[in-house]
Amino acid sequence: MKAIRGATTVDFDSIEQVRARVGELLKEIVKRNALTRDEIVFLLFSNTNDICSYYPAKAAREAGFSFCSLFSAAEPDMSGGLEKCIRVLALTEKCGKPEHVYLHGAASLRRDYSKIINIALDGPAGGGKSTVSKLVAETLGILCLDTGAMYRACALKCMYENADCGNEIAVKPLIDKINIEVKYIDGSQRTFLDGKDVSEEIRKPQISMSASTVSSLDCVRKKMVGLQRKIAAETSCILDGRDIGTNVLPDAEFKFFLTADAEVRAQRRFKELTEKGHTVDFESLKTEIILRDEQDKMRKIAPLRQADDAVFIDSSAMNAEEVAAFIVRKIQEKI
Ligand code: C5P
Repeated sequence: MKAIRGATTVDFDSIEQVRARVGELLKEIVKRNALTRDEIVFLLFSNTNDICSYYPAKAAREAGFSFCSLFSAAEPDMSGGLEKCIRVLALTEKCGKPEHVYLHGAASLRRDYSKIINIALDGPAGGGKSTVSKLVAETLGILCLDTGAMYRACALKCMYENADCGNEIAVKPLIDKINIEVKYIDGSQRTFLDGKDVSEEIRKPQISMSASTVSSLDCVRKKMVGLQRKIAAETSCILDGRDIGTNVLPDAEFKFFLTADAEVRAQRRFKELTEKGHTVDFESLKTEIILRDEQDKMRKIAPLRQADDAVFIDSSAMNAEEVAAFIVRKIQEKI
């Protein structure tokens, strides 16, 4: 017997919506798991108690599922959980791995699963980590932490103070006093350096290589890793970086390593920068990305490396939505 989970939400508590969304959810479960009628034994529904207009089991019967046992129950109130949500557990005779189905934003973690989870997303520059982690965070209702922004802020500090980014003696006194804060405004991360919002400034192309150089220093890594671990310990989040799975959170429950062909990564970064109004030369950008990856891989402390237990993703032929959906699916399978 295999249990397949599914969930969906309704926008309004109305008979029509419950009918339509339950029908859609069941159709998707059947399609994605290639189920036949004979293989479905029992459909067990629960719904949040803000849905009173209709029983999901009744909607299932009307959608043609009267051949199996059906049951509906209302869930107790879970403040902070998803609203207007219908969940189903399909018990089936199907063999093989079940594909769970979450529609209409129902993939947020349930309150009863809501112990702190950390997701490590590492990989080289331009692999799409930050776009993907924003999408994953949005779907799961958790935070995303772009750890590269912290190293970029350190590089900016060195630039302000005319300090050589590669010189530990020059950088250490600055790092000892530096105040880097990450705040979330309207859901997006803003990075503050000594009280000033530098979120845009740190994205300037000339900061990238300096960030890579400064990030190889022991004093910088110690301080930034401490900050990252503190945030991760307090809240469920997806952290994107280079050493999250290997060094910052070696015990993270979910680890992914995202890469793509260097040409594709350079094209993505080029698009991102030009859209933001930066003037960049494609060939120089590509060379910089390759050099930066080499520098990140070759450094002595916490180099860029795939953790042994990370899931490898090559996104050369995938868009950000596809990568995010793959990651969410992997996570949902485990929780
Ligand atoms: O991800 P992003 O390109 O903004 O990172 C800038 C630089 O910060 C990287 O090239 C890398 O050297 C450094 N970094 C790091 N460890 C992380 C995140 C970023 O060393 N966890």
